[in-house]
Amino acid sequence: MSNASTIYAPATGFGRAAISVIRISGPASADVLGRLTGALPPPRRLSLRTLRNTDGDVLDQALVAWMPGPGTVTGEDMAELHLHGGLAVRSAVLGALATVPGCEPAQPGAFTRRAFLNGRLDLTEAEGIADLIDAETEAQRRQALRQLDGALGRQVADWRTRLIDLLAGVEAALDFSDEGDVDEAALDAALTAKAALLRDEIARTLADGRRGERLREGFVVVLAGAPNAGKSTLLNALSRRDAAIVSAIPGTTRDVIEVRCDLGGLPVILVDTAGLRDAGDPIEAEGIRRTRVRMEQADLILLLRAPDEAGNAASHTDETDLHVPAGVPTLTIRTKQDVVASGAEAEDQTALRISALTGLGLDRLLGRIEAQAAEAVGGGSALITRERHRLGLARCRDHLDRLLAGSALPELAAEDLRLAVRALGEVAGMVGVEELLDRLFSGFCIGK
Ligand code: GDP
Repeated sequence: MSNASTIYAPATGFGRAAISVIRISGPASADVLGRLTGALPPPRRLSLRTLRNTDGDVLDQALVAWMPGPGTVTGEDMAELHLHGGLAVRSAVLGALATVPGCEPAQPGAFTRRAFLNGRLDLTEAEGIADLIDAETEAQRRQALRQLDGALGRQVADWRTRLIDLLAGVEAALDFSDEGDVDEAALDAALTAKAALLRDEIARTLADGRRGERLREGFVVVLAGAPNAGKSTLLNALSRRDAAIVSAIPGTTRDVIEVRCDLGGLPVILVDTAGLRDAGDPIEAEGIRRTRVRMEQADLILLLRAPDEAGNAASHTDETDLHVPAGVPTLTIRTKQDVVASGAEAEDQTALRISALTGLGLDRLLGRIEAQAAEAVGGGSALITRERHRLGLARCRDHLDRLLAGSALPELAAEDLRLAVRALGEVAGMVGVEELLDRLFSGFCIGK
């Protein structure tokens, strides 16, 4: 696919720096570079050149690269200018580029979009780039790199090729069925065996406990408990920043506050919630409603219990009062242990005892959260990293299930296979993705 326009954009951040890179992609790249440098430099090598505008004024001395397509990252002719990293240098060169006919500033993600449209990347690899740019922790970086490297894309392409082979076999059988010389029973057995194998491979990939999505999105830890249990104070102590308002007035945390942290390379999102109790006013009621939603979606709930005024373990709230959703792993935590007289904590030996004030038990708690997060995201080996992949693969598996459960009428088998192929094509971004592209690429930086 060719794009008529030639796009340009800074590829490095805004501000003073040693070097500032401008990327150019499209059919006029050679013309643009020629205008700036006088003559086209040798391809695929950095060359030192003087850049001038159309009036002959010197703009900068820069390393420039000329990269003829299609063997480039966008698949088009490309050029790069490695300028001195001053703001005025950059704007002078951008100004000169703006005067070249057919040249326009790039939209966010436009270079990657062209790479995708020119078949240099599939959609999962483009998503890998987005994830790599967004990666905040080591484990996320590794997962994004694997996806960019095509771990998911190659697997989907392999399944798709094998499905297309099956489809071709069924269609050939349909074509020749009038001639009466096809052994339909034998064909059915072979088809069924291969389809069942594929189905199982896809089902195994789907049965990954959402490890990849959890790693990409972050392991969600919700702090829950009655008002004044010490949730905001603990969140601050854990995240070591003042992210939540700490106050002695019950019900001040009216909204849900999230803090993203890096725990041993794993992304963990700590969520402070409105105190769980019957709300007196509508704003607090909304806070409590959100709390319940977050608790249901949590990967781990920390259920905080403060001692009562006399320093005894609180007993008036239990899990049923707090409506801890079934199935979400929950850690019970006894807070404010600095005010508890030693020996007063006879009961409930399993609960973790902490004091956000003195720091007692916080390292153990962090260790527990990290261990749970590590278990939930596994070794970062999951192929599926987005709900989109999961839905596509599940659709494919469902069509194969239908095929395997069916009466093996060749016409129906062919239709099931076609739909299964289509579902995989959607995962790789071959069909029905226009809207998706806009959403994905608009999240990129300009110049990517
Ligand atoms: P939340 O409503 O559950 O978010 O509770 P807060 O974090 O706002 O804490 C309620 C009150 O308990 C505040 O006055 C805190 O200073 C106090 N508090 C919280 N954690 C501790 C602790 O570990 N020790 C002591 N002594 N007080 C604490």
